[in-house]
Amino acid sequence: MIVAVLSDIHANLAALEAVLGSLGSVDAVWHLGDVVGYGPEPDGVAERLAEIGAIGVRGNHDEAVCGGDVLAWFNPDARAAAEWTRRRITPRTRRFLEGLPETLTPPELPFTLAHGSPRDPIWEYVFSPDVAAENLAAFATPYCLVGHTHVPLAFRHDPRRMRQIVPEPDATLQLDDRRAILNPGSVGQPRDGDPAASYAIVDTAALRFTWRRVAYDIETTQAAMLEAGLPPRLSRRLSFGQ
Ligand code: ZN
Repeated sequence: MIVAVLSDIHANLAALEAVLGSLGSVDAVWHLGDVVGYGPEPDGVAERLAEIGAIGVRGNHDEAVCGGDVLAWFNPDARAAAEWTRRRITPRTRRFLEGLPETLTPPELPFTLAHGSPRDPIWEYVFSPDVAAENLAAFATPYCLVGHTHVPLAFRHDPRRMRQIVPEPDATLQLDDRRAILNPGSVGQPRDGDPAASYAIVDTAALRFTWRRVAYDIETTQAAMLEAGLPPRLSRRLSFGQ
């Protein structure tokens, strides 16, 4: 089975469409949360994911938009965008977001999906080998897919220590009997210095995880953000992948 793994789309429909257009033939699309927040088209992105039958999990921005007293955890720009999104989304988008589970394990496949980390799915960032190691006990499958940091990255449990792998563009990681936590990077707001949308393709039979980048029309998203009255800093950062 060939699966596209998309994370942190953040209501960036132009980026999502560029990614979907680049996929080729896939059997499924999985997303790792933060469907909305920051970007200008939350309804369009939720509709598109529903239309293609994507399955996925809930991120901190999805949680914030659905209510709950979590906005205090956000910086002012993120909070302004979350409040804008709350006001703006249709009931259907709200139901889509509310229906997202915190973690997901597709049947008979060796992957657990979480937004942040398996032990604290909504909020924790897996950004270091130590945090990755502490999370190994929190999932039962060999591999875990996470997003949230917006940085393509992998952690693999070599015999004596957790090793961090920073992938080159288009790199493929051959998975094996070592457990691993894998991050495809962000579709809608990359933060590794490369503004192109980032995602991954997983071959679940050959156990290969391949990172991919695709350029998209950033200016279209930026114009829609300014038009919507979203914080200008959030649109500017898209140009720099930060
Ligand atoms: Zn995010």
